[in-house]
Amino acid sequence: MRALCWEGVGKLAVTEVPDPEIRTPGDVIVRVRASSVCGSDLHLINGYLPAMRQGDILGHEFMGEVVEVGPQVRKHKVGDRVVVGSVVACGGCWYCRTEQYSLCDNGNPQPNLTEKLWGHSPAGILGYSHAVGGYAGSHAEFIRVPFADVGAFAVPEGVPDTSAVFASDAMPTGWMAADFCGLTGGEVVAVWGAGGVGQMAARSAQLLGAERVIMIDRFSDRLSTAADRIGVETIDYERTDVLDALREMTGGRGPDACIEAVGMEAHDTGPAYAYDRVKQAVRAQTDRPTAVSQAIMACRKGGTVSIVGVFGGFVDKFPLGAAMNKALVLRMGQMHAQRYIPMLLDRLAAGEMDPGYLATHPMPLAEGVRGYEMFEKKQDGCLRSVLRP
Ligand code: NAD
Ligand code: ZN
Repeated sequence: MRALCWEGVGKLAVTEVPDPEIRTPGDVIVRVRASSVCGSDLHLINGYLPAMRQGDILGHEFMGEVVEVGPQVRKHKVGDRVVVGSVVACGGCWYCRTEQYSLCDNGNPQPNLTEKLWGHSPAGILGYSHAVGGYAGSHAEFIRVPFADVGAFAVPEGVPDTSAVFASDAMPTGWMAADFCGLTGGEVVAVWGAGGVGQMAARSAQLLGAERVIMIDRFSDRLSTAADRIGVETIDYERTDVLDALREMTGGRGPDACIEAVGMEAHDTGPAYAYDRVKQAVRAQTDRPTAVSQAIMACRKGGTVSIVGVFGGFVDKFPLGAAMNKALVLRMGQMHAQRYIPMLLDRLAAGEMDPGYLATHPMPLAEGVRGYEMFEKKQDGCLRSVLRP
């Protein structure tokens, strides 16, 4: 079959690879119908999460049709249209039973590296390097889905492929980000990053009761899409001092909750950015904490900072003092896909959420390399390229 593979730092190619096969009794094989790029892939492509090997298939946000089922699969049969969460979780361990699927004890069959790096291993993630399982990804004609009764969900009739695909990752991540904020109604929520994840977080915050949502980015097309589609207020951080603007917009108090949907490759203006980039380039730090630091500084006293942007290792100049002295609640994590997907599919079917507009660039798998280039450089208003094998 054809697949989009990682061939080295900054290098992708569509190549011929062997078809996947059922390996354990709970597997299904899915014929991919839509597979989206995600900001997380950029961290892999650019070598910031350094456990990729040449020939690894990328992609973890996808939906498709079941074409083969293992002997222990109960929920799915051949022909079903399903969306699959990117997190590989067993469904039976203590973490899974308490709905903390991204912390599953059994989803990552190669836990050695992450145990050394982080103390414990989180769950596996499809198409996301040998640090979290070494699973083949979804930018391919077919993919093996392990623990399919836990991780795959039937797509309701009437929901198009290019909306359903985002129930795999951007929607549950955004929902979890908002869920972490503990909203009870009437809050002001600020969101750093107007990508697919930030936009879904903004919409989720509204549905969970936020009265105002303010988005921060530098790409005017992304900000205006979010304003039109979701009804957020916006700040362009290249034109406006973010901390001043947020103070002014909240009567001096600061947002009640701040969501970080940017991650380890954050961009910034000014000397601190150059310093961070150099340190990251020489591997003296692994991640750039620009947006998360700003979120901590902006947040009102006693508020919540919710981090769903991905970080891999260590950062420098992290304002722990501000977080401590303002008594902030910090919450973060890879998303618990399986916990949120059924509820999100209901909301999709009911028309309460409509992420289809994120699929600005649907294209054949064969054009995947160009799809990533457009996405990475945010060209032509690209929010997400969606590959359709
Ligand atoms: P994206 O690349 O489409 O969007 C990121 C946005 O952040 C861009 O629009 C960029 O301009 C903006 N940005 C960069 N620096 C900024 C700054 N200093 N202030 C404000 N905005 C800034 O990516 P995405 O797909 O939306 O993903 C966002 C993050 O979420 C990534 O780190 C990704 O790895 C992570 N993610 C996490 C999970 C999870 O389970 N926690 C799941 C999916 C994605
Ligand atoms: Zn588990």
